[in-house]
Amino acid sequence: MADVETDLPRLTEVVPGMLRVRVPLPFPPTEVNAWLLACGEGWTLIDSGVDSSSTRALFEAVLADPMLEGRPVTRLLGTHFHPDHIGLAGWLHERTGAPIHMSRVEWLQARLILADPPERALDAYLAQYAASDAPAEFLALMQRRGLLYRRWVGPLPYSYHAIREGDVLDMAGTSWRVITGEGHAPEMVCLHSAERGILIAADQILPRITPHIGIHPADSDGDPLGAYLGCLSKFEGLGAQTYVLPSHGDPFTGLDERIESLRAHHEERLQRLRDFCTEPRTVMETTSVLFRKLALEQIGFGLSEALAHLRHLVRRGEMREEPGDILRFRTV
Ligand SMILES: [Zn+2]
Repeated sequence: MADVETDLPRLTEVVPGMLRVRVPLPFPPTEVNAWLLACGEGWTLIDSGVDSSSTRALFEAVLADPMLEGRPVTRLLGTHFHPDHIGLAGWLHERTGAPIHMSRVEWLQARLILADPPERALDAYLAQYAASDAPAEFLALMQRRGLLYRRWVGPLPYSYHAIREGDVLDMAGTSWRVITGEGHAPEMVCLHSAERGILIAADQILPRITPHIGIHPADSDGDPLGAYLGCLSKFEGLGAQTYVLPSHGDPFTGLDERIESLRAHHEERLQRLRDFCTEPRTVMETTSVLFRKLALEQIGFGLSEALAHLRHLVRRGEMREEPGDILRFRTV
C-alpha cells in the first residue's frame, strides 16, 4: 500500500512482528505513526490518527492488507488523548470490536472534552489568551473557529481498559513495560521492551521536533514543563542501542543524546526569557524571543508554550508574575 503523492509505503514492517502505519494528518506535523504488534491470534493497534473519511479509508485498506495475514485487530491502545492519536479510536472500536486501552488520566481527559459543552472550554481559552495579550485578530479567529477537538475525535465508547505505569503487556513475541510520560500530555503511555531493546516513545521523545508543552486553562497554574523535564530521567539508561519508535518521524537510535538535547533546548529557551524579561513583559511579547514569526493560527500554541516556560521560571523562583488584566512577567 503506497501513498498517492509520495509513493512511500504507508504500511511497513519495522522489526519482526511489528508494522508501522504512516497516517497523514490535516495539520502539522502532517503525519503520525500508528503501530501494529502481533499478539497471538490478532494484532494490537497503537494510535490511529484523526477521525476523517480519508483516515477511515486508510484503515479499511490496512485491515485488509495481506501483511496482517488475515488476523483481526484485537486490542486498541491510545498513547494519549490528542486528536492525532485517538481521533479514530471510537470508529475502530465499532469496526473491530477491540477494546480501547489507555491510561486513566488520558481516557478521562478525552471523555471530559467530548462531554463538556464546547463553549465552556472556548471561553476559558479566550480568557487565557486575552490575559496573555493575544492580538484581537487571533481572538476573533478563535471565536469564529471554535475548538477543533470534536471535529477530529469521534465519539468514544462508555468503557475502556485501564493501563498504568509498570504494567507489562505481551506483544510481538516479547514483554513491554508501560512507562508513563508527563508534560505534553498528563499520563502518556510509552512502552519499553528490554529484551528487544525497543521504546515506543509516543510524543514524549521525538527525533526532530520538541513536543508541545503548554499551559491550558483547565490547569492554569500547573507546571507542565517541570513535569516534562522531571520525567525525562525515566527514559535515560534504557541502553545506548535502544531503537526508539516515535509518533512523528522515523525510528532512531541515540536516546540519551536526544534527551540531553531536549533538556538543552528548554534550558536555552528559559535563559532567553530571563534575559528578555528584565522589564515586565506580556506573554505575547515573550513569544518574539522563543519562536520565529508565528502564523495567526499558531499563536495559541505559541502563547501556551511561552506561558509554560514563564510559569516554570516562577516555580524556580527566577521570575515574578505581575497580575492584572494582562499578565506580565519580570525576571527576579
Ligand atoms: Zn502527536
